[in-house]
Amino acid sequence: MENCIFCKIAAGEIPSAKVYEDEEILVFKDINPLAKIHLLCVPKEHFRTVAELDGERAALLGRALRKIGALAPAWGLGSGYRLVINQGENAGQTVPHLHIHILGGETLSWEK
Ligand code: AMP
Ligand code: ZN
Repeated sequence: MENCIFCKIAAGEIPSAKVYEDEEILVFKDINPLAKIHLLCVPKEHFRTVAELDGERAALLGRALRKIGALAPAWGLGSGYRLVINQGENAGQTVPHLHIHILGGETLSWEK
């Protein structure tokens, strides 16, 4: 999708600090980290929220979660981490391309 920053990162048109990439997802460091470790897992296909999931996208997200689970210790997240997917305006979603925040590297507080 044109003018989508995560599509541009997935296409290699904008640089990112990548920690993992395969044919369908990319994981890179968040530019404005909210925890000692803050990664973003981004499907290469553009869609905005879970409201746009079909069977194939749901399966893709399942595979992405399995990858995160398998690779988290190698990313320094062996003591636990938080996954967040902001959906739309009230959640503060700023990039309209679904992404999973991966937060950790420290004890996380739990606030609204
Ligand atoms: P959200 O607010 O859930 O849409 O999350 C968007 C996230 O993308 C924010 O945490 C931003 O800091 C992050 N972000 C925006 N642009 C970039 C970029 N070029 N590289 C890495 N992270 C970015
Ligand atoms: Zn996009």
